[in-house]
Amino acid sequence: MPEDGRNHPWNIETLAVHGGEFVDPTTRASSPNLVMSVTYVPQELIGFSARDDKGYEGFTYARVDSPTVKQLETKLALLEAGEAVLCYASGIGAIHALILGRLSQGDHLLMADTSYVGAAELARDSLPRFGVEVSFADTSRPDEVAAAIRPNTRMLWLETPANPIMRLCDVALLAELAHQKGVRDVCVDSTFASPISTRPLDLGADFVVHSLTKYIGGHGDAMGGAVVGRKRDLDLLNLEATVHFGGVLSPFNAWLILRGSATLPLRMKAHEAAALQVARHLETHKAVKRVLYPGLPSHPQYDLACRQMRNFSGMISFQIHAPGVEVARRMVSDLQVIHHAVSLGHHRSLICWIGTDDIQASTFRHPPELLRRYRDYAGDGVFRLSVGIENGDDLCADLDRVLG
Ligand SMILES: *Cc1c(COP(=O)(O)O)cnc(C)c1O
Repeated sequence: MPEDGRNHPWNIETLAVHGGEFVDPTTRASSPNLVMSVTYVPQELIGFSARDDKGYEGFTYARVDSPTVKQLETKLALLEAGEAVLCYASGIGAIHALILGRLSQGDHLLMADTSYVGAAELARDSLPRFGVEVSFADTSRPDEVAAAIRPNTRMLWLETPANPIMRLCDVALLAELAHQKGVRDVCVDSTFASPISTRPLDLGADFVVHSLTKYIGGHGDAMGGAVVGRKRDLDLLNLEATVHFGGVLSPFNAWLILRGSATLPLRMKAHEAAALQVARHLETHKAVKRVLYPGLPSHPQYDLACRQMRNFSGMISFQIHAPGVEVARRMVSDLQVIHHAVSLGHHRSLICWIGTDDIQASTFRHPPELLRRYRDYAGDGVFRLSVGIENGDDLCADLDRVLG
């Protein structure tokens, strides 16, 4: 019987294809089955609550665990070199489960001052209602992170590269620093990097989260999220955050994401190659003021990028000389290949304009010094470009058409 990868020192390309998958014992199907059943028929009498399964190993009810989702979880654990994975209905579902599942009243969450807007807004607007203290620090400056850690800091939340300015943080250094100061959970949102680029658990993090909607699913047709970590931590999280919060991934989406993830290593190579070409092209373009891409030597943290990222990924941010909103309007009507739309990590290229005043007002609300540093990277706003796997020449020509 072909193996599912757990007992083999396979390379990541092989794990992406075979990890978590097995030949179906009943039908001998080579590809994963889509199992939509909500309930399962145990062969022995088991308890009624997920907390009283009497040690039963099989499936019982799809909110607790289900076969297709389980196959995806096994594949993701292998790709991230983690002990266990839990999947959720969206990336923010995974973030919510991890934060609410691990923090209690009186705990302090220290979060990167620039991160995915949904996570930043959840932390700033919702957590204080539950008595969780929240503060923000520039995680590209380890001394500021050290100074911001309090006796009750239970969780440090990192994101690298950070949405939308492509600022990096040094995961190994920050994880060591935080653990030394008694922080229990170092969490990394690694959506922009993907496991092909960076494996935060290898660098000392306790948890990794992904929006599976982005690179891992890769085709823009299924939402999902995942938390990767130690088995004992995730067993606890499963009982509370999965069973009681309930934001589980549907088997159908798991099946789509499972299929998408098989080509993740190939796609990441293509994303990186096209992004490098587009980033270099933009850097010489007269309409462009600044390009932020970890794979360019002009990135302020290029050394860290080379150390921490095995693949520079497909995410670019750039500023232009002309007013961004005007060019963004032109993009909406005139782009032929790239879609002006939110989201990222899909096979098709996506671009969107993120005005600094807008994102400050809606989300970050940085104090003056942090705002000044955000503007260092973003100016009045950035175009966030998720380079797909199209031909780089076609993407450059499409951008030239609207940049003027
Ligand atoms: C999109 C995104 C999320 C949220 O994921 P959804 O699947 O849209 O809920 C979280 N973190 C990052 C970095 C993202 O880009």
